[in-house]
Amino acid sequence: ATPTSIMVGTGRAAEMGVLFRKGDALQMLQESGVVALDKTGTLTAGRPALTDLILAEGMDETDVLRMVAAVERNSEHPIAEAIVAAAEERGVSLPEVNSFTSITGFGVKAQIEGRDVLIGADRLMTREGLDLGDLAAHSSTLASKGKTPLYAAIDGQVAAVIAVADPIKPTTPQAIKALHSLGLKVAMITGDNQVTAEAIAEELGIDHVVAEVLPQGKVAALESLSADGGKLAFVGDGINDAPALAAADVGVAIGTGTDVAIEAADVVLMSGDLLGVVNAIDVSQQTMRNIR
Ligand code: ADP
Ligand code: MG
Repeated sequence: ATPTSIMVGTGRAAEMGVLFRKGDALQMLQESGVVALDKTGTLTAGRPALTDLILAEGMDETDVLRMVAAVERNSEHPIAEAIVAAAEERGVSLPEVNSFTSITGFGVKAQIEGRDVLIGADRLMTREGLDLGDLAAHSSTLASKGKTPLYAAIDGQVAAVIAVADPIKPTTPQAIKALHSLGLKVAMITGDNQVTAEAIAEELGIDHVVAEVLPQGKVAALESLSADGGKLAFVGDGINDAPALAAADVGVAIGTGTDVAIEAADVVLMSGDLLGVVNAIDVSQQTMRNIR
């Protein structure tokens, strides 16, 4: 590519709200065969809401919700915000908690009024040796609908399954179709439940899913996709995405995401949606085609 054609391409992209921070990203993007997308905040709005609360035998809904929300008030995860918001809507008052601990990629725990409260993915419950009982079937059904199921345990007894759902951004389906028409394969990388991720991928026509990825595992997940051929682009928005944004051939940050993600990226999308990625690839393909 000549410096002039790169400049023209970068300028055209900027008019569409796509900022190329590195000149060679335009060329790399044109050579991309796979676009891997972070799920939460990239494919989805990143604002989940509580949809279901299913109790184990003998549990009281308000009691479970007040304890769970009290613990989640100390977490910054979007899942935590959804649970706290649901408790507030129902006017439940939240007790004080002690010894709050966040177990990254698994969930959270704390003590309330002398009781141990644990909230998180099924792998957290399994890790603690807890029996999921009848709630496992409910959890599977919720996940197959694309909702994220979480377990709450009190004093070592699984007390409830709570589901949250994060709406898909309105432009995501259109963007995935356009990526396919530009000849790319589309993958999803997420820390979320495998079944949930597969349900969402199926709905969107996503070709490949890597789920239940721990925050420190995103780079390895990305590398597992690079065998598919061509260069690899990764799109993300969170602090957790920064290493993968730096490791990808082309790292694309959602402009409404965190500063850490933006700093690690080669390309920044000013708008919060994935049509920006489509524009970026479109411009890169046209720029490179013109100079051959
Ligand atoms: P993602 O951003 O893709 O959700 P995370 O690594 O942040 O990935 O979280 C992975 C999983 O860990 C979540 O899907 C959830 O099951 C569990 N988890 C994380 N934080 C919390 C929390 N505050 N409360 C309950 N579960 C949590
Ligand atoms: Mg995200």
